[in-house]
Parts: sequence; structure tokens; C-alpha cells
Amino acid sequence: MMRTAICPGSFDPVTLGHVDIITRASKMFDRVIVAVLENSAKKYAFTKEKRMKLLNKALAEIPNIEVITFDGLLADCAKRFDAAFIVKGLRAVSDFDYEFQMALINKKLNPEVETVFLTTKSEYMYLSSSVVREVARHNGDISQFVPEVVLKDIEDGLKD
Ligand code: ADP
Repeated sequence: MMRTAICPGSFDPVTLGHVDIITRASKMFDRVIVAVLENSAKKYAFTKEKRMKLLNKALAEIPNIEVITFDGLLADCAKRFDAAFIVKGLRAVSDFDYEFQMALINKKLNPEVETVFLTTKSEYMYLSSSVVREVARHNGDISQFVPEVVLKDIEDGLKD
């Protein structure tokens, strides 16, 4: 049986923390769907097309991943792609409350799906897309936070 996992997020933009979680998931599952959330109520720094393009570029070496976009419920998206697992990264205790709630809701909505948490690599504990956006907007060096292949695209995209 093929084991499919879904890694959801905004990825606005992709960071080394995301790449770490997705790479690890790709070793645990046969197929990993990277699901880019497009929430019409939210404003993003990068369009969904651009976020997908950056992810595809950053993850080009991983054969068993697929980057898709979704705008409804994650539980439905998991069903659509036959994914029995949702993989999420946990950075700190502060992530826990929200993630715990989401995992329980997703289980109610789709009892077939299990949420799996991977702990962050310690060096990425502080890292989020918003940190990358803030540092880049103030002309700080983001080369330690994002994959090298997309560094320039991200820097260009965040320039005013
Ligand atoms: P953020 O905007 O906070 O970077 P996303 O919503 O795009 O996060 O995150 C997508 C997934 O990646 C989530 O499961 C999130 O917990 C995980 N993630 C994000 N940053 C990290 C990190 N530095 N270490 C581990 N997991 C992370």
C-alpha cells in the first residue's frame, strides 16, 4: 500500500525549516504532497504561483514530492489526494496549542487521517517565513534562512 502524507503550510516564502521537515517526511512516506494554502482572507507576500515555484525549485532533488495548492479544508484536501497522514513541524511549545487543536479537528473531519509531528532541527527553531520577510525587508542577510537556489528570487520578491 502506498503511504501518502500531506505537508501543509503558507510557505510565504519557503525556508530551510520547511525544506528540513519535507525532506524528512519524504524519507518516511512513499509520496509527499506539499500543499500550499491559499486563504482568500489572508494577504501573502508572494502569490500562490510564486510560492509553488519557489518550493519546486527548492525541492527539485526530492523525487517523491508534489507541490499543489488548496483553499478549503485540509481534511478534504487530504482525502482528495488519498493522504492518510498530515505532517507538521513543531518549533516550540508555542506551536503546540494550535497544532493540537488542528490535529483534533482534522481527525473529527476526516477520521482516516493521522497527524504526525516532527520536531524542528534545533538550528531552525527560531525560523519562520515572517522572520525571513522581516529580515529581508530591512536588508538583512537571509542566506542562512532560505535555500541557496531561491535566495535571489526571495530577495527580489521582498524588495519594495
Ligand atoms: P511559517 O509561516 O510559520 O514559516 P508555514 O505555515 O508556512 O509556517 O509552515 C508550514 C509547515 O512547516 C508547518 O508544519 C510548520 O510547523 C512547519 N515549519 C515552519 N517553519 C519551521 C521550522 N523552522 N522548523 C520546523 N518546522 C517548521
